[in-house]
Amino acid sequence: MDEFELIRRFFSTGYPQRADVMLGVGDDSAISRLGRDEELVSCSDTLVAGTHFPPQLPADAVAHRALAANLSDLAAMGASPRWFLLALALPEVEPGWLEQFSAGLARLAGRYQVALIGGDTVRGPLSVTITALGSVPAGAAVRRSGAVDGDLIYVTGTCGDAARAWQALAGGATLAVEDPCYRRFAYPEPRVREGLALRDLASAMIDISDGLHVDLERLLAASEVGGAARAQDVPLSAALVDQVGLVAARELALAGGDDYELCFSVAQSRATDLGRLSADWSCPPVCIGQVRSEPGLSWQLDGRDLASPPPAFQHF
Ligand code: ADP
Ligand code: MG
Repeated sequence: MDEFELIRRFFSTGYPQRADVMLGVGDDSAISRLGRDEELVSCSDTLVAGTHFPPQLPADAVAHRALAANLSDLAAMGASPRWFLLALALPEVEPGWLEQFSAGLARLAGRYQVALIGGDTVRGPLSVTITALGSVPAGAAVRRSGAVDGDLIYVTGTCGDAARAWQALAGGATLAVEDPCYRRFAYPEPRVREGLALRDLASAMIDISDGLHVDLERLLAASEVGGAARAQDVPLSAALVDQVGLVAARELALAGGDDYELCFSVAQSRATDLGRLSADWSCPPVCIGQVRSEPGLSWQLDGRDLASPPPAFQHF
């Protein structure tokens, strides 16, 4: 049973239904109505030592990644981040480790002005769960489900860097702290400002946590459409191509997760607006394909069909 089958079977039905839940299980974040004008956007993400990061990863990076993953899920809805809760399981109390952890957490929280408002601390194998809360004007959140036939598909920044670092670290390699791929893995930058800016422009949006192919496939499936994408247009960093070569770089970009870039669709008529809006972004969006009415996501490389779909990160 994979993660999604498990969630569908045990956590999607049988619980109380409420009229103030605008969007529940199934998107990057949930949307709940509080007052008339604003909606609460919430998400939660867990990182387990040895599963989502190597145990020797510096504590500030563990904290950064855990918060960044959540801020990224809020960004994917076009939400403003506001508060977060931290549930921490620690095998033992190591003041030095906690010092570094809290410094990393405070640094990223400060950058986006999100307040730590609670949590829980227990003894156990190292794991970090963060629940992040944000808001949108009522009805303004960008869901995965709004893409329509003909929309253009974009991705911000570059893909595959974090997966390259994770692969190397998992294989026992030590990476230089200044290695750009390592930095993308250890200190990913959630696209909070970009997500907010896209709120009135993107028809659908998702953040890339499991891999570009599989996450774009999820966006298209949620929108009940399909898509055709061009592998040669997927943005790659020079560092990634340098380290693994073009062919492996493309594979990592399509299949690798943890990039925390945004993948979104925009109506063709608004492509010039997007160009204007993103002119000064450090992670400019690149058009990688187009939404089609036939279901499924197909990839081409220089005009030829790519036979097998790239694999993705599987929790189970
Ligand atoms: P993301 O990769 O964007 O963080 P996930 O793939 O982790 O999203 O989760 C997919 C959806 O399932 C989300 O809407 C999430 O809130 C929901 N979900 C995951 N685990 C559970 C659970 N144990 N109970 C209820 N909902 C869950
Ligand atoms: Mg997500």
